[in-house]
Amino acid sequence: MLVILHPNTDEKSKEFKETWNYLNDLPDIQLKKHTVIGEQQQLTEIYLVGNTSKVDRKLIKALPAVDRVIKISEDYRIIGRHKSNDRAVGFDYNGVHFSQDNLNIFAGLCAVDTREHAELMMKALRDNGQYCTRMGAYKPRTNPYSFQGHGKSCLPFIFELAGKYGIKVIAIEVTHEKHIEDINICLEQTGHPTGVILQIGTRNTQNFELLKAIGRQQEFPALLKRGFGITLSESLNAAEYLATEGNANVIFCLRGMKTSFGDPHRNFVDFIHVPVVKRLTRMPVCIDPSHSVGSRNKAPDGLLEIFHATAQGIIAGANMVLVDFHPAPLKALVDGPQALLLEELPIFLEDVHIAREAYKKRCQQATKTENLRSH
Ligand code: PEP
Ligand code: MN
Repeated sequence: MLVILHPNTDEKSKEFKETWNYLNDLPDIQLKKHTVIGEQQQLTEIYLVGNTSKVDRKLIKALPAVDRVIKISEDYRIIGRHKSNDRAVGFDYNGVHFSQDNLNIFAGLCAVDTREHAELMMKALRDNGQYCTRMGAYKPRTNPYSFQGHGKSCLPFIFELAGKYGIKVIAIEVTHEKHIEDINICLEQTGHPTGVILQIGTRNTQNFELLKAIGRQQEFPALLKRGFGITLSESLNAAEYLATEGNANVIFCLRGMKTSFGDPHRNFVDFIHVPVVKRLTRMPVCIDPSHSVGSRNKAPDGLLEIFHATAQGIIAGANMVLVDFHPAPLKALVDGPQALLLEELPIFLEDVHIAREAYKKRCQQATKTENLRSH
């Protein structure tokens, strides 16, 4: 059961104390408090964990600090959608809105190799009206001899360039708790020219200590990649880990599953799960067509398979696209073969626009059918 308090309830107030004490005295029930800090208001939610069958909802509703009482299922308590639940979907971060109703494109370098390439990338983004990007600094690699990213040494120039080219949010994968501190310190030193979303890679989806560390901080939102070899439910539970620690600003990213059934793609594209994740949870859903498809193969119709995969995800309602580009893919130190070219950026964005418009028309069509049924 979830008890939502009136917006901006002060925890030192008489109303809060009375409410909390009543709930705390309920037998066989543990309380878990969760605070959502929005742009306009602060919302406190109290989860009643345990045997709630004997709890009288009407009495709780009448407590002084209580706004609403919601019955929730056991799964995904915080990130879940739950029946008759009208809680907010999405969040704002550094001037960018993330929700299940809009679309943000994060085109950029899989891994930052040189300052020059990062600058060419960001300039191309700005010239094409984009204000988000991906820039890998800490790269988890299968082979220990492969390039692992420049780490914190490239952060100062990435942030400085982001400021120069009007990039508001950068997705940066972190593989260790201390990387969060590196990012924090560097943003501080460079005067916060941009924002960062902490990306959790597919190899770390169930790295529970990393999840807890990212969940404990509320400065940066998180982009959680689906685990490549676990069930969808297990990956969604990983997102719930972030939320239980206090950070519910989580975007969920589909990036394909590791199985030879997806051959010749690098991973088996799973974008049909976009509407599923939206039905089960309140998280915005991202797709990563680059790490799913893994090559620049072109279909006979003239479209790259990465374009096809992107369009599939968007036409199914995706809210974010994480996609690899590189100014000189042959020189890229990571994932060059799947990188799109800067010259392809405007064509890619147009293709995205076409698919998004088609998705919107499909939704309108669905509303019409819904209206017909209710008459
Ligand atoms: C990436 O996005 O750079 C990446 C390594 O992706 P994944 O964790 O999905 O393999
Ligand atoms: Mn990559």
